Amino acid sequence: MSDCIFCKIVNGDIPSSKVFEDDDILVFKDINPVAPVHLLAIPKKHIASLAEATPEDNAVMGKLLQVGSQMAIEQGCTDGFRTLINTGRVGRQEVYHLHVHFVGGPEVLPPMLKR
Ligand code: 5GP
Ligand code: ZN
Repeated sequence: MSDCIFCKIVNGDIPSSKVFEDDDILVFKDINPVAPVHLLAIPKKHIASLAEATPEDNAVMGKLLQVGSQMAIEQGCTDGFRTLINTGRVGRQEVYHLHVHFVGGPEVLPPMLKR
């Protein structure tokens, strides 16, 4: 996807602070962190959102969670973290290239949603 910002990060057209890369996925630091640790784990393949993921994406989805978790711990989330995927308009997704947020740090995070 030529106009996708995360595809441009995958291609190296836009710089990012990478913490992990292999043939399938990339993990990098969010440019506007909401906590001391805020990583994004993305598939290198353009998948617009979780709603567009297919059964053939199951392996890469598992890898995003497993590797992203290890990277969050390595970056300082030794006592837990929050994992979040925003999907579509209702989920307030801003970048339409599937990404998993890993958010944490030393402090306990606020409640996930206001009631
Ligand atoms: P969403 O709301 O789609 O779940 O989250 C998109 C995330 O991407 C936001 O947290 C935003 O800060 C991050 N982001 C947007 N553009 C860039 C960028 O160019 N580089 C990096 N590292 N993060 C970005
Ligand atoms: Zn993309």
